[in-house]
Amino acid sequence: MMIEPISSPATLLDLTLPEIEAWCVAHGQPAFRGRQIFQAFYRELVSGYDQITTLPLGLRARLAAEWPLAIPEVVSELRSKDGRTVKLLLRLADGARIESVLMLYPPNPESIRPRATVCVSTQAGCAYGCTFCATGQMGFERHLRPGEIVAQVLHFARFLRAHPWGWTAAGSDTSGTLDHVTNIVLMGMGEPLHNYENTLAALRLLNDPMGFHLGARHMTVSTVGLVPAIRRLATEGLQVNLAISLHAPNNTMRARTMPVARKWDMDTLLDTCLDFAHQTGRQVTFEYVLLAGLNDSVEHATELGQRLAPFGTLAHVNLIPVNATSAEFRPPDGHAIRAFRETLQREGVNNSVRAERGDDIAAACGQLRTRDDRARRTKTAP
Ligand code: SAH
Ligand code: SF4
Repeated sequence: MMIEPISSPATLLDLTLPEIEAWCVAHGQPAFRGRQIFQAFYRELVSGYDQITTLPLGLRARLAAEWPLAIPEVVSELRSKDGRTVKLLLRLADGARIESVLMLYPPNPESIRPRATVCVSTQAGCAYGCTFCATGQMGFERHLRPGEIVAQVLHFARFLRAHPWGWTAAGSDTSGTLDHVTNIVLMGMGEPLHNYENTLAALRLLNDPMGFHLGARHMTVSTVGLVPAIRRLATEGLQVNLAISLHAPNNTMRARTMPVARKWDMDTLLDTCLDFAHQTGRQVTFEYVLLAGLNDSVEHATELGQRLAPFGTLAHVNLIPVNATSAEFRPPDGHAIRAFRETLQREGVNNSVRAERGDDIAAACGQLRTRDDRARRTKTAP
């Protein structure tokens, strides 16, 4: 397989613990130094070698020379008015710009624990060109390295440790603080399964019990539906959640907004997802962006319910009123959303509506980058 070039340098965060240990041994150091380095980054959350004071100075200097850290630089940061969404535009070592978001959720009926979810980018741009998606309109720029994916999570882990979030549950007097990342969703810029190797490497790094130790069940891979890669994911033995961007009840309609539907039709995709659910015993989430007047009627809900009937309780539909990125698309009103949900429920399909968040800060991924692109164009225009 041809590996596409990545213009940023490899960094320490691309390495697994055994790789760091091997490097230490090859440089005349005891293997335990490797564990010290790994844990400094993933547990103590240091952001530079100079902070690992347990390491000999010579080793710190050698690491700095051979393994750059390339901590992403924050280009802009937006916080929603309620303070529960923090969105970043980050610049990577080669200048590529990506978005990452932290979303804070107090306990609710679906989750008795508060959550701090990081929405991570896996690529700069995206090759799949979904018409409602700001990232899709940029085209593909490059894959991210594992360390560039991991670095986004570590950034917010440091942020939460420095600024623990004091939460209060709505409608009750329960409250508490949360100081760590509890979940990650690969729903930022890019298609994670197009960057399969690097994405899986990043998930395994974050999952490592010797380091960050985030449970695979707290990770969600969201995909446009790359059939061979979903089959492969089912064999990884990693208990991650799978979310499929379906967005239509049939292939003809799907192909209108999602070019990928011309490569793998919906029957093949749904068969693959059913195999995934049976093989892993895990529920599959189907994301459905609601586009007013296009895919949001009661008939569409009925058809969707029928298509998902073979899954029984192994399917969950997450409805997402579209974040309008162009005049072509607008979200349905509350009445249409309720009718859609009730119909799905009648068809026996569990569903929820994604809590709208961060609208005041351009929530859908790619929008902040697009805004930055426009500002740059204006600046450089003759
Ligand atoms: N490429 C992957 C993951 C990144 S997109 C995928 O497509 O699943 C993450 C989610 O945001 C997807 O479900 C995507 O369809 C959705 N999305 C894209 N543009 C959106 C918009 N304008 N409004 C709401 N959701 C959007
Ligand atoms: Fe790419 Fe996902 Fe956007 Fe489609 S929705 S263009 S696959 S990032």
